[in-house]
Amino acid sequence: MKIFTMCMECQKELGHPSFEPIIADYYEEALAFIECTKGHKSAILLQSQKFEVLLESAANALIEGYTLEAASSLSSAYERFFEFAINVFCKKHDISKETLEETYKQVSKQSERQIGGFLFLHLLVFGNSYTLNKQIPERRNRVIHQGYIPTPDEVIKLGELIYQEILSISNLIKSNLASEMQQVISDTVQARNEKIPANMCRATSSGTMFFSLVREENKGNFQEALASYKEAREKLFGSVPYLRIFSKAVALYTNLRSPKQ
Ligand SMILES: [Zn+2]
Repeated sequence: MKIFTMCMECQKELGHPSFEPIIADYYEEALAFIECTKGHKSAILLQSQKFEVLLESAANALIEGYTLEAASSLSSAYERFFEFAINVFCKKHDISKETLEETYKQVSKQSERQIGGFLFLHLLVFGNSYTLNKQIPERRNRVIHQGYIPTPDEVIKLGELIYQEILSISNLIKSNLASEMQQVISDTVQARNEKIPANMCRATSSGTMFFSLVREENKGNFQEALASYKEAREKLFGSVPYLRIFSKAVALYTNLRSPKQ
């Protein structure tokens, strides 16, 4: 996975952004380690939940024509979303992280058990039953268990169903359990922060662009979210050569104004 960023150490020194574009890789830990041309080394910590990263991964794969990978990432995003919702519901009931982990590890390898856990916790928290979309398992099983390579349209249909499920439950959580959701995000940030080597400079990024829990409002459907993400991605990556030239001009100007002794 990739994130577009700039060096925060340069910004601290200059009092304004250096404008040097940095495209950094990140993986499971959602940490990107960067080094700018001035030699500042730092870590960028994403605050995105795993399902948000997987949704963005699906969007990238779909844009690039990898439909099987896109469907597979969508399917994983769907599963990890229920894990996130379970975390939020357990916060509401003051369940400690350790106790939840102890229980979760018994269901972690079977997504059907996790979805069952979600349904009963939803019932407990909201006092009403949540009806899952029945079309999702049929479509995802074909890809995941039968290696079926879907067309872009089939991925969009699966994406739409999964996106609607995630959007409606996350809107419900944001309206009713905002503080619990914030606590889950803080726990994620804290756990990632502990994985950065001591003394290394660090900055937190809001993370994914395709879907973001911390955004005021996400797009109403998968196709709109995909179109908007595609446009943002093209603008961002398209700006890289210009930002490189601009950042060199800024550095030159800064040096002329205050040459090093
Ligand atoms: Zn720097």
